[in-house]
Amino acid sequence: MYIIFLGAPGSGKGTQAAYVAQELNLVHIASGDLFRQAVEQGTELGMQVKSYMEKGVLVPDQVTIQVVLERISAPDCEPGVVFDGFPRNLKQAEALDKALVQKAKAIDKVVYIRVPEEELIKRLSGRWVCRNCQTPYHAIDSPPKVWGRCDKCGGELYQRPDDTVEVVKKRLEVYFAQTAPLIGYYNRPGKLLEMDGKGSVAEVGERIIAALQQASV
Ligand code: ADP
Ligand code: ZN
Repeated sequence: MYIIFLGAPGSGKGTQAAYVAQELNLVHIASGDLFRQAVEQGTELGMQVKSYMEKGVLVPDQVTIQVVLERISAPDCEPGVVFDGFPRNLKQAEALDKALVQKAKAIDKVVYIRVPEEELIKRLSGRWVCRNCQTPYHAIDSPPKVWGRCDKCGGELYQRPDDTVEVVKKRLEVYFAQTAPLIGYYNRPGKLLEMDGKGSVAEVGERIIAALQQASV
């Protein structure tokens, strides 16, 4: 089973992708998390991608595609994968299709989470993320029980350096120009599931699980 999560920065796709992966026993692969880990660890990959992420623009396809395809070849990905943040443009989508064809596999479902633009900006500007397990919180909508600490693992919460107003604007611009066209690319009946992203994390999560179950019968 291969599922892609599509949605703007702030749509909740990371949270929902993690939830669905856990519910369906699939591996959650978030390209942004892979890159942030590399930056934090100061690896060669980290040094390559840092400046792009700081500006809110896409890391070059060649680098991104290699990192993700390598990750999905690992044995733990055999049962299937939930992709979060990848593919992010047409070239990446085509590279993924090609790699899956070689494994006699294909993308089963694409979950597109729709959220109005004003809401995206509001969500991103109050976002805090666990440094350890990546769980996101919102200063007003979903604050942690203890300020600055993750409810799940006690890790330290921090604000992503690319969650500043200017970089958020750039990321949204890049999303609408390069990633949103993928909705058309995957738009086949029974494949693309368009989901309303309004509501609590639990509500949206239940909605997605229900839609995935319905679509597979
Ligand atoms: P968000 O969706 O909230 O913007 P991500 O964590 O998915 O956050 O991505 C953060 C940054 O990592 C992006 O702005 C981009 O620089 C880089 N990145 C992540 N995934 C990709 C990708 N598939 N292709 C190119 N760059 C990517
Ligand atoms: Zn945590």
